[in-house]
Amino acid sequence: MNTMMMKSETKIGALASKTAIVTGSTSGIGLGIARAFAEAGANVVLNGFGDATEIENTRAMLSAEMMVKVAYDKANLAKPDEIAQMIERVENALGHVDILVNNAGIQFVSPIENFPADRWDAIIALNLSAVFHTTKAVFAGMKARSFGRIINIASAHGLVASPYKAAYVAAKHGVVGLTKVTALEGAEHGVTANAICPGYVWTPLVEKQIDDQAKAHNISRDEVIRDVLLAQQPNKRFATVEEMGALAVFLASDAAASITGAALPVDGGWTAH
Ligand code: NAD
Repeated sequence: MNTMMMKSETKIGALASKTAIVTGSTSGIGLGIARAFAEAGANVVLNGFGDATEIENTRAMLSAEMMVKVAYDKANLAKPDEIAQMIERVENALGHVDILVNNAGIQFVSPIENFPADRWDAIIALNLSAVFHTTKAVFAGMKARSFGRIINIASAHGLVASPYKAAYVAAKHGVVGLTKVTALEGAEHGVTANAICPGYVWTPLVEKQIDDQAKAHNISRDEVIRDVLLAQQPNKRFATVEEMGALAVFLASDAAASITGAALPVDGGWTAH
């Protein structure tokens, strides 16, 4: 684990002096949430895959800009023993974990009859089982300290289905159910658990899909956005990682103490259909 402390340990902000782990935060939504947490004064642990130099640059930049401790842990969350080791390393380096954001996730798209069993296993392992293992590893400590925030990044696909996404939809529905159980078990101990259920969010991955789909269907980028990617999203607009970050900061703050067990759609009206 690579940790760095900058000028201040007592930055003023909604999450000052809290420690947060954000899984899958080397890109996309996770990085947006990690940035928002650091801005709100939390010490943050980044996790995920990617180029080692880029990750170190991100870590150092966040720490320097926001004047908080930022660490990186390379645990592969598809492996339960690596999750246990990550939590131990974080607790040794930064003290206890106050906020856990389960964000790491992968996707695979195929009709059920052709869905490879190994892709099913991989998606369930990361998108669902890892959420259980990280929660289990921090839960007793949170309850003992009478404070904890668990924020699970589910999806609109945790509430409704689309064809060809069997493993992803099953895992995300599972995450919503696990969030409710966690909320009930934590309720009398100051530990909240909520799921954020985004529709389409603007990330580098989505940007790449636009060009690929435009080429594949021989249609314009605007048509891909409106008629393909955002076909289900009534507001015809991508959410941003900054919006995800702002909601996560709110859910982690004292102001959200009574919000627990919720699955919050951030989907431009998709699940209002
Ligand atoms: P992304 O691909 O940009 O980021 C995924 C992150 O997970 C990366 O940091 C990656 O390195 C990490 N990761 C992948 N496998 C891992 C593993 N085995 N162990 C540890 N880290 C691993 O994706 P994103 O779009 O930012 O999605 C983040 C989460 O939000 C996912 O759970 C996804 O299902 C959910 N989500 C995304 C959207 C969207 O439109 N982008 C919509 C709804 C839900």
